[in-house]
Parts: sequence; structure tokens; C-alpha cells
Amino acid sequence: MSAGSNEGAGSTVGGEAIQRVDGAAAERLLPTLIEAALAAVVTMDEHGVVHAWNHRAEETFGWSAAEAVGASLVTLIVPPQYRDDHNAGLKHFRETGEGKVLGQVLELTALHRDGHEFPVELRISEAARVGSITLFIAFVLDITDRKTREAELVAAYEEARSSRQAIDEFVSMVVHELRQPMSVIMGYADLLLHELPDADEPRYSSPLHAILQKAQEASTLITDILTAAKLESGELTASRDVVDLSERARAAVDRAVPAITLRSGHLSVSGDAEPVRVLGDPGFIDTILDNLISNAINYSPRTPVVRLTVRPGEEVELTVSDEGKGIPEEMHDRIFERFVRVQDRSREPGTGLGLYVARHLAQRQNGSLELVSSRPGDGSSFSLRLPSALPDTDDRRA
Ligand code: ADP
Repeated sequence: MSAGSNEGAGSTVGGEAIQRVDGAAAERLLPTLIEAALAAVVTMDEHGVVHAWNHRAEETFGWSAAEAVGASLVTLIVPPQYRDDHNAGLKHFRETGEGKVLGQVLELTALHRDGHEFPVELRISEAARVGSITLFIAFVLDITDRKTREAELVAAYEEARSSRQAIDEFVSMVVHELRQPMSVIMGYADLLLHELPDADEPRYSSPLHAILQKAQEASTLITDILTAAKLESGELTASRDVVDLSERARAAVDRAVPAITLRSGHLSVSGDAEPVRVLGDPGFIDTILDNLISNAINYSPRTPVVRLTVRPGEEVELTVSDEGKGIPEEMHDRIFERFVRVQDRSREPGTGLGLYVARHLAQRQNGSLELVSSRPGDGSSFSLRLPSALPDTDDRRA
């Protein structure tokens, strides 16, 4: 369709000349336009007397045009509790020529002839001055259906939210309950392992190692689920203790002995033998290290070789490096997102929560957790940075 030109009486549309409607004819069109409007159209003067009332207004408010024209709009469609405000607004206009509501789209409550109230959307404009009288025109839409749908949506959303909350609370409760039996299993398995006659000998493939490793995995998973739930609900706060990161790294390596032993791998900590103190939360640090070490072991298809290195500095850095299967470049950022995993979920167990939790815990301690390098087949290296504890805080040592 070609555009019409707009050059006076010689306008064309699609090459055909069109006749322009003059002002008087356009004015004669007005009542037809008002009648054809999809909204209720009402005109009134500054005393609130109705001058025009279209067919849609009859349907919307229940009053016929014959009944409405000449009557007071306030008594026809304004609910009693809003009448004083409405009258005050008209009085203010008569005295000052100003109307706060003019030109605005408003959502109000209107009154039907049968007495029921219903929501409307309306816009009132100053339409014309006839002698000393000002006429206003109001376009009014009955929005009962829209409001009902909105209320239904809000109710459905609230229901979904509260049932999700109930499920979350139930999962948290169950997971929390699992914690206690799990630590009992780990405690007894550890005790039995050390009570064996030649406890100093590494007992590769001992069933006790398998029990300990699986209990350790379950316990990391329990911590991750509970921590993720607390992160979501904003309940998690970090303590600010002085923590020896080298000591925490050695303790994490000890906890991973069953897992690395079962895989006949190698796990070491290098760096300062002296304490390397950071300001942080010991529980958070343990969770981060357990996740990084367990990933380094689990994602090493051959014999796992995992190194932890602690470097002092203004920001203390701890790296966890492996020689495992690596991570494709396009996934380097995404692996820190919740539930994101590189491999097929059904082939390797895991939840995709570990790195998400670990990075947030690092950030809550004013630190960071990054993947510094990783290439498929060439291993990966993760770097945890935490603020160093200042010397004058040494007396607060954890
Ligand atoms: P999960 O291990 O439960 O899947 P994580 O959030 O700890 O969850 O890790 C997300 C994904 O990142 C893992 O599924 C794995 O694909 C990848 N990934 C993490 N650490 C390593 C690593 N050291 N080597 C190779 N891939 C890793």
C-alpha cells in the first residue's frame, strides 16, 4: 500500500485523488465517533452536570443517555466514599482553572446503577469552552476482567511460591537430618581404619576407605545444598576470623585421603610451612577446598595428580591444580553458574552446585574464585584469593 501525500485539497492515496473533509463536516462526525468508541465516553461541565453519554456508557453504568444527560455525574457513577473528593476537585477547578487529574490515566472504582462497584481506567481531558462553561470529556474502560485476571495471576504466583518454599524447607530439613548420621558413619569408619593392626600402612582399596570417601562426598553434597539454600534466602553471613590457610589446606588434603587413595592418586600441598593468615570464615574455606579437591580428583580420568599451593601476599592465593580432563573454553565462566555441568549428567554423578557455592563463599569473604587455566586433556587450575590478615589482628587467631 502506498503512502498518501498531504498537500492540501490535492492529496492522493495509491495515486487516486482524495477529497478533504472540511472543519464543519468533521465536527458533524464527532457524535458518530463518540458513539462508535470502544470506551464509555462521558462529557460533563465544571459543575459535574452530564452533557453527553454514549451507548457504551449506558452498558457500563446501567443508566440510559436520557436518564444521565442533565444529571449530576457524581451521584450517577461515583461511589459515596469518593464523592467529597470529586466535588472538591471540581470546586478547585472552578476557582483556579487547575485540575490535578486532567490528562492522566487513572485507575478508580466506579458505581453501577445496580449498586455494585467495579474498577475502571479513565482519562479526563478539558474538551471545550462554550461561553463561560468548560466541558470535560472522559473515556472510561471497565477493567473488571483485567483486574480479575491480574488477581488470579498474583494468587497463582503466590501459591507456586509458597509451595516452592514448602518444598525448599522440606529438602533443607531432610538434608539437615542426613548430616548427623553421615558424620557418625565417618567418625566410626575413621576410628576403625586407625584401629587396624598396621594402621600406619596405606591400605589401598580398603573397604573402609570406600566408606569414608562416599561419606565424605555425601557430606560435601549436604553442605552444598544447605549453603545454596541459605544463599538463595540471604541467610548466609561469613565470620571474619584470622585463619591459617596453609593449615586449612593440609586439613582438606587429610579429608581427601580416602578418595585419592582409592584412585591411587597423588595429592600434595606446597608453599609456606609458616602460617599464612587470611581474614575469613573457616567453615566457608573448608567447603571451598573440599569442592575444589573433589572436582580435581573426580574429573581426572587417569591417575589423579592434584597440587595445592599457598602463596602469601596482600591477597593470599591458594591454587588447586590437576592434570585431569580440563574444561572447554566456552564453559570457563558458565561452570560457576548453578546446576551447570560440562558432561552428561547421567554419566558422571554430581549436581553442578559445587563451584557456584564455592565462588559465592569466596566473595562473601571479600575474596574471589577463578578458573585461571584449563585446556581439554591438559588439566585445570583454580585460584582462590582471600584478604591477608593484618599483623595487628593476629591476637584474634581462630
Ligand atoms: P559438579 O561437580 O557437581 O558437577 P561443580 O559446580 O563443582 O559441580 O562443577 C561444575 C562442572 O565444572 C563440573 O560438572 C565439571 O564439568 C566442571 N569442572 C569442575 N571442576 C573441574 C575440574 N577440576 N576439571 C574438569 N572439569 C571440572
